[in-house]
Amino acid sequence: MSRLEENIRKVTPYVPGEQPQNKVIKLNTNENPYPPSPEVDRVLGEVDSGDFRLYPDPSCSILVKALADCYGVGEDQIFVGVGSDDVLAMCFLTFFNSGKPILFPDITYSFYKVWAQLYSIPYECPKLNEEFRIVKEDYYRENGGVIFPNPNAPTAVYEELDFIEDILEHNRDVVVIVDEAYIDFAGRSAIELIERYDNLVVTQTFSKARSMAGMRIGYAISNPKLIRYLNDVKYSFNSYTLNKVALVCGEAAVKDQEYFENTVKKITDTREKTKKELADLGFSFTDSKANFIFASHPEYDAKEMFDAMKEQGIYVRHWDSERISQYLRITIGTEEEMQKLFEFLKKYMQK
Ligand SMILES: *Cc1c(COP(=O)(O)O)cnc(C)c1O
Repeated sequence: MSRLEENIRKVTPYVPGEQPQNKVIKLNTNENPYPPSPEVDRVLGEVDSGDFRLYPDPSCSILVKALADCYGVGEDQIFVGVGSDDVLAMCFLTFFNSGKPILFPDITYSFYKVWAQLYSIPYECPKLNEEFRIVKEDYYRENGGVIFPNPNAPTAVYEELDFIEDILEHNRDVVVIVDEAYIDFAGRSAIELIERYDNLVVTQTFSKARSMAGMRIGYAISNPKLIRYLNDVKYSFNSYTLNKVALVCGEAAVKDQEYFENTVKKITDTREKTKKELADLGFSFTDSKANFIFASHPEYDAKEMFDAMKEQGIYVRHWDSERISQYLRITIGTEEEMQKLFEFLKKYMQK
């Protein structure tokens, strides 16, 4: 390695799912198959490019207020960022500084490991059990912080709030982050525990249930003290995170609660139908509470199915890693998209 390169930071980056530019049936990155609320379209029509001359509001106040009203918390309990990836990166930088290893599951969102490495945070990864469930007792040992998604990804398994509470109770001296990217498809949110646990940070995103992955909006909800620490780090990094268009579109989307609930219901209905179809085809899978299904087939190799699907323009996700190499993660699309997937699978299995 050259002298020049010796002092350059070297990282192994996160690898996102493919974004093919041609038209495919895209069931590989857990996006929403339905468009955002029509209210987003309406406010977009009112955007004035003359406003772009000035910087956006660094405190993102219209969006923070809309989220505070939506979740019944104070505006000083909300932190927003450029997608929850940005929010989570800020959380790692702000909260995980003890020098002790942070804990997250061995099978989970692969970005956690990347941020830990980027910020030189030591980490340990307790194994999910055979049913791909988090073993909560593994998180009772001394650590520098805890993070896990609920529902977990890519396993789609949701844990009830008493389970989350046990982990919070055993970690009063460190920050516990519950990444709720998929909570709207699942059940009760840990937001209701914030008043009782001053060590809890909940993160959510506009990318999944709110159909706005391309707009890049995420947020954290916690007590005012932890949110203040997060904001201090943000203002030491980049004051102007969300742009003006994202702020007005985000506000409009949050205010249209009815559209949001209808879209979520369409997806969860399709998910339940998909479970029946996949079971009939002989797949086994965890009981998904997210907008994707993590499935494996006893007779067909996952990577071979993945390649054959891709050839037919059906994109799903496959990881060539230990324990999950025989699984496919299939995002729930529209009813029509799922029909095309089932047709493909039926033909594939007849061969
Ligand atoms: C999609 C996802 C995110 C990131 O979402 P963005 O808001 O688009 O950055 C974070 N955590 C998990 C578990 C996810 O699946």
